[in-house]
Amino acid sequence: MSTLLYKFTGGFTDINSTQMNTTTFLMIIPLFIFMCLPAVAQQENKEAWNNRQCAVVLTYDDGLHVHIDKVIPVLDSLGLKATFYIPCNSSCLSTRMEEWRTVAAHGHELGNHSLFHPCVGKSKGRNWVKPEYDLDTYTVTRMVDEIRLANIMLRAIDGKTNRTFAYTCGDKAAGGASFVDSIQKDFSGARGTRSGMNMFGDTDLMDIKSYMINGQSADEMIDLVKTAEKEGALVVFLFHGVGGEHAINVNLADHNKLLEYLGNRKSTIWVAPLNEISSYMIDH
Ligand SMILES: [Zn+2]
Repeated sequence: MSTLLYKFTGGFTDINSTQMNTTTFLMIIPLFIFMCLPAVAQQENKEAWNNRQCAVVLTYDDGLHVHIDKVIPVLDSLGLKATFYIPCNSSCLSTRMEEWRTVAAHGHELGNHSLFHPCVGKSKGRNWVKPEYDLDTYTVTRMVDEIRLANIMLRAIDGKTNRTFAYTCGDKAAGGASFVDSIQKDFSGARGTRSGMNMFGDTDLMDIKSYMINGQSADEMIDLVKTAEKEGALVVFLFHGVGGEHAINVNLADHNKLLEYLGNRKSTIWVAPLNEISSYMIDH
């Protein structure tokens, strides 16, 4: 210990280890702790995220053809796994069910996004919501029933029971009443639409924050990952269209550049489906 403390003091004082008195020792202790802090924080972060510095979840909403045609090939070529939130009335699910089954068999998550994708119709920009699927006309029971039936349908496709949910349009109430508590035991987590980083031990697993991607460049998306690396956080990307097929869209080249960045940093960044990461957070 005296040798170690001598190294810390050598540049500032003339004392040596044999001359060190109590006062000097007490002055050095805070300096020693201060110098150790970054290493301790880094170690804690690494333990938090499966021995990586941070975690990233790539989520793709609404069961689009581009997810199978453009996203899956890139993910698979880089060995990355993602979560796909598929409403059961997605035409792509009904016409390409076997392909989705293969997607799940390759380790991707088929996430629950309800049966009919109901949303609150009166909210801004929601002219597209049909009156039959306006969440304001739903009851909590009806919404919970539909969500649970969607779980059964997805289990029939992938055989899995551990799944996460994504709130349709980010809405958490049916007929004005929250259905969040009613579905908690059905999922290992739920992705919300609030923007922000998720910190280990300080994340509401039924409202996991995410970043909606709509037109951002690769550099802007990579900056979010760099922030997660710096803060030791979980960052969740929320994609819809990738190279088209949805009004909320990201350029394919920018999307692929983000994935390449992640694929090159697997030793420091944990990229996994949301159910894997939320289950890890529950277990730890
Ligand atoms: Zn959606």
